[in-house]
Amino acid sequence: MLKRYEKFLKDLDKRLNSYYELHKGYLYCKKGCTECCEIGEYPFSRLEAEYIMSGFIKLNPEKQVIIKENIKNLLEQKKNNTDSRFTYRCPFLIDKECSLYKYRGLVCRTFGLAYVSNGKVVLPECVNSGLNYSSIYSNFSGEILLDNPVMEDLHIDKLLKNKFAENLELECGEIRPLIEWFS
Ligand code: SF4
Repeated sequence: MLKRYEKFLKDLDKRLNSYYELHKGYLYCKKGCTECCEIGEYPFSRLEAEYIMSGFIKLNPEKQVIIKENIKNLLEQKKNNTDSRFTYRCPFLIDKECSLYKYRGLVCRTFGLAYVSNGKVVLPECVNSGLNYSSIYSNFSGEILLDNPVMEDLHIDKLLKNKFAENLELECGEIRPLIEWFS
C-alpha cells in the first residue's frame, strides 16, 4: 500500500509544483519559514500517519527521542485543554525544519497555496501575517481576486478521493488531527 501511496504522492507533487510556479508572484515560502508548522491541527489520514511513521523509524535515535518527547508533552497539554479545538506546534518540527519532510502529510504539501473550493477561494493562514497572497488579499475574503486561480480543490478529503487515488485503490482510512494518532 505504501508503494502505491508513493506513486500517488509523485503525481500530486508534480501538480503542486506547477501550482507553486503559477502563483510564485504571490508566495513568500522559503527555507526556514515554519509558519505553517507552528500552529495547527494537521489533519492526517490513517495512511498518511502510517507513512510518516515509516519515516520515523528510519530517523537517527536522537531525533526519535526529541519527537517522542514532543508528542508526550503535547498529549499532556491536550489532556488539560478545555477548548474544543486543540492547536499546537507539529511534533516533527525540529530546529525550524521538518524532520520527516519526505514523509510529510498531504496538508503539509499544500501549505501556503490558495485554491478554489465550492466557488470560493481558500487562503493559507499566513495571509494574516502579511505573507502569501497578502499583496492581493487583506484577510480571508472568499472572493476570487486571482487572475490564475488553482481550480483543483486541495482539501485533504478531495485529494484522497481523486481519480488517481481511486485507480491506485488507496485505502486512506479515517482522517484525524495528527496528534490523535498517538493518543
Ligand atoms: S510534518 Fe513536517 S511539514 Fe508537516 S506540519 Fe509537521 S513539521 Fe510541518
